[in-house]
Amino acid sequence: MDTTNFIRMMPKIELHAHLNGSLCTKSIEELCEELYGVNSNEKVLLSKELVFDGGNLDQCFLKFRFMHELTATKKGLQLATELAIRDFAKDNVIYLELRTTPKKNSEMSKEEYVKNVLEAIERTKKIESIHVSLLLSIDRSKSVAEAEETVNIALQLKNTYKDIISGIDFSGNPKLGNFMHFIPVLEKARKNDLKLALHCAEIHVPCRI
Ligand SMILES: [Zn+2]
Repeated sequence: MDTTNFIRMMPKIELHAHLNGSLCTKSIEELCEELYGVNSNEKVLLSKELVFDGGNLDQCFLKFRFMHELTATKKGLQLATELAIRDFAKDNVIYLELRTTPKKNSEMSKEEYVKNVLEAIERTKKIESIHVSLLLSIDRSKSVAEAEETVNIALQLKNTYKDIISGIDFSGNPKLGNFMHFIPVLEKARKNDLKLALHCAEIHVPCRI
């Protein structure tokens, strides 16, 4: 057995998976084809965008933009969730902690966004041999009020989906927002038995952490 296959077959746990950053290139193309069609303009544009050149932090966040567009509908969001789990299961990940920021748009509220992800997780877990937990992400570039809304959604849905919702993630562009402002909201989450996963000090800006 070669090294690549040996590593792929090893059982693994994945504790740092952002939904929009977890699909392999082939799956992103599959998602785009499913939503827009094989020969669509969107597919042509996406193929150009998918050429990742390493880039800097700003370019990296720019690359997430097309994933936000692909997951802006219920169908796109559910399919992206299913494909992400399938990709991890293919690599023999047996425990996955998936995280995503609830997003509101013309098609769904933030709560509906989370419910769509949860439904897709429940469906996929029946097909793949993998345990999936979900963390709801607080985007540090947004307001503290929005962060509290995210914690409240997690608390509302925790009882119904107690095997899936495990906690709150704090993430987003480290050049924006201030970690200190979010401490009361994070404490509220922890007091209510939600686990915390924090991104902080990713860049050297001491006043923002
Ligand atoms: Zn992260």
